[in-house]
Amino acid sequence: MNLSDDQIRALLQAVSRTRDQELTCDECLGELSGFAELILKGRPVEEAYDLVQQHLQVCGECSEEFALLLKALECLVEPQP
Ligand SMILES: [Zn+2]
Repeated sequence: MNLSDDQIRALLQAVSRTRDQELTCDECLGELSGFAELILKGRPVEEAYDLVQQHLQVCGECSEEFALLLKALECLVEPQP
């Protein structure tokens, strides 16, 4: 079965809406720095951060916060060769 990116995204959103374990904004913000570090280091995003990713997809406030955090961290993290 081949799903398009749009279909997968829609599916993920539907799943995250009905999931029991949903992050609150506070929980999400608490995880953001670790999540951002993984992204910046090019490491695979661990399963623990799946929920963060899902929350960012459905929450504009937190994804805005995340974008700001990424920018701030980019200035601190040395570029990898
Ligand atoms: Zn949020």
